[in-house]
Amino acid sequence: MSDTLDGKVALVTGASSGIGQTTALALSKAGARVAVGARRTDRLQSLTQGAPGEMLAIELDVTDLQSVKNAVAATVDRFRSLDILVNNAGVMLSSAILGADTTEWTRMVETNLLGSMYTVHAALPHLLDSKGAVVQISSTSGRTASAASGVYAATKFGINAFSEALRQEVTEQGVRVVVIEPGFVSTELTSHITDPAIQAAAKSMAESMRTLQPEDIAGAVVYAVTQPEHVAVNEILIRPTDQT
Ligand code: NDP
Repeated sequence: MSDTLDGKVALVTGASSGIGQTTALALSKAGARVAVGARRTDRLQSLTQGAPGEMLAIELDVTDLQSVKNAVAATVDRFRSLDILVNNAGVMLSSAILGADTTEWTRMVETNLLGSMYTVHAALPHLLDSKGAVVQISSTSGRTASAASGVYAATKFGINAFSEALRQEVTEQGVRVVVIEPGFVSTELTSHITDPAIQAAAKSMAESMRTLQPEDIAGAVVYAVTQPEHVAVNEILIRPTDQT
């Protein structure tokens, strides 16, 4: 990939808020044409209206294989190729294992892990054609699990495992796989936690440090996908300086 993303096409999942939204804008600013997917299409419409470049809003539920296939097809129909997949959609419904609401486990596995796999599966033929890049938004929880994050961490460890297998399968064909592992970023992510004690702990953690901002992660994504073609930035771990 060149210094700028002129002529490149990106698809960002989970682009209706937080890291996905800011990354979509950063890729657009760098010259890419960007398809943005999520379930809240009203937010996507507002995003496309304020974008610096051409942007396409697509209703997407990553837990639904057909919806994922449709989103990839819509991107390629509109922009004629796909160079960068930012696999970002995710939920974090932290809770202790004992007594957990297992429907939340299902949601996390279906969204973070299976949804991200479905998206790679649908996008890969196009990325092989373009010698493109897959950016997997994992987490520090993909490297270290902690109490109350067992299932979330399992999904992120899973993403890292899948990404390494993917890398080995496609790197010789010119497709680059980038795993980004953010620490605490200020977004809506923790607002969906249903356990009041863990919700309060997340709030107090956020107040105890200078958290990362979505722009910090978007900058890493743009860095990774603008390297020369022989450079594969395979893993980036970014923590707030204040986070132990
Ligand atoms: P947000 O809650 O702001 O964004 C999550 C995004 O995922 C939203 O756009 C949401 O869109 C989308 N999403 C959720 N479920 C689905 C679904 N079924 N289909 C399609 N899109 C879906 O949180 P973040 O920006 O923080 O999270 C983005 C990613 O970053 C996640 O994978 C998260 O695990 C990861 N991350 C976040 C960290 C943080 O501290 N914030 C740290 C490390 C990693 P909609 O609801 O409209 O569908």
